[in-house]
Amino acid sequence: MFENLSERLSGVFDRLTKQGALSDEDVKTALREVRVALLEADVSLPVARDFVNAVQEKATGQAVTKSITPGQQVVKIVHDALIDVLKGEGEPGALKIDNAPAPILMVGLQGSGKTTTTAKLAKRLKDRDGKRVLMASLDVNRPAAMEQLAILGMQIGVDTLPIVKGETPVQIAKRTKTQASLGGYDVYMLDTAGRLSIDEELMAQVEQVRDIVSPRETLLVVDGLTGQDAVQTAENFNTRIGISGVVLTRMDGDGRGGAALSMRAVTGKPIKFVGLGEKMDALETFEPERVAGRILGMGDIVALVEKAQETIEAEQAERMMKRMAKGMFNMNDLKMQLEQMLKMGGMQGMMGMMPGMGKMAKQISDAGLDDKILKQQIALINSMTKKERANPALLQASRKKRIAKGAGMEVSDVNKLMKMQRQMSDMMKKMGKGKGGMMKAAMKQ
Ligand code: GDP
Repeated sequence: MFENLSERLSGVFDRLTKQGALSDEDVKTALREVRVALLEADVSLPVARDFVNAVQEKATGQAVTKSITPGQQVVKIVHDALIDVLKGEGEPGALKIDNAPAPILMVGLQGSGKTTTTAKLAKRLKDRDGKRVLMASLDVNRPAAMEQLAILGMQIGVDTLPIVKGETPVQIAKRTKTQASLGGYDVYMLDTAGRLSIDEELMAQVEQVRDIVSPRETLLVVDGLTGQDAVQTAENFNTRIGISGVVLTRMDGDGRGGAALSMRAVTGKPIKFVGLGEKMDALETFEPERVAGRILGMGDIVALVEKAQETIEAEQAERMMKRMAKGMFNMNDLKMQLEQMLKMGGMQGMMGMMPGMGKMAKQISDAGLDDKILKQQIALINSMTKKERANPALLQASRKKRIAKGAGMEVSDVNKLMKMQRQMSDMMKKMGKGKGGMMKAAMKQ
């Protein structure tokens, strides 16, 4: 979502970071370009100007740290300044919803993604925070909008207030409030009507509803693709209604991202969430640190890699648990186990964590097995063929010799590894057997 801005900025900083010493002139030139990049990304002029001035001030007074280049230092200052511009108080995405039932008022223009966001947020509150949520649509002019919320509610397993034809928004709001108390809900969310543009009738209606329910949070949903218009909308709603935060939708699109930067500076209200797609789980907390990283073109690579790793590991572990439950344990399983052990602080740490294996942990430590040995064992397995790994019974003398040689070790080491695999396999079989099998029990948990 910030591609254009980040490309421009990283271009500017690439030139800076390559230079050893940095003159005032360099900083000035770079910051001029930063300003242009911000404006091109649709950041408003006063915000861009203030931002550049703040960076300039900080950069001038800074003592240069030896371990980093002056260019890197400027990048860091810009990074921190971006976070300052984006940050609200408290945790990202935190909502004041502790006193049940807590009302959340959802406001915004028609088509901004308000109804979708209401449901996404309700799902998040239910799934992540274990809250009981009740939703209601106040859009009496558009029955389709009320139906839409009801359908979404069914999809995500969140209750919606039954629709009663002919009620006014105020009546619906009152009924929701009562129902939320009687029904023991933690949170109730009111999806107010939207208009294509801000008009008096809309504002007056939202105001009335606000006065009746005294919302703990009033969240404005705005379309992130509309750039400066989004900021203008936010300012209008904030002046008239008073909002507690903003949800920027369609940030999965190729908008210029400038709206995010101007939003907080102009309205003084934090962006709490971003919508990243049409699906019900495409809502993320707005995290200034991450976004600042993204804007600077350092990308979200770290987060991405971490996430990928997590899923791969979880899948592997599940597959292994299933095999183990069946009493299957070949060299591939052993290799995976060994690699896991390396990651989790060696065999001792790993065994100590598994139920019933404390004793084995001690034996391993007594035998002096450490990371180096783990690595050697992995090397031995790597030197086996696919068939050998899947079926260790194939490992006769000549194969053992070849494997040992391939890993730069002795045949006796291969024997030790095989013994280990056999022992583990026996243990898995024992544990997997019968209804009371330990692995099965563990999997059920
Ligand atoms: P409302 O009129 O403000 O209630 O808008 P809706 O919730 O009905 O959303 C309008 C359209 O925008 C729907 O097709 C949504 O699926 C879509 N939409 C909402 N949020 C996002 C988002 O974050 N990304 C994308 N790509 N589409 C979204």
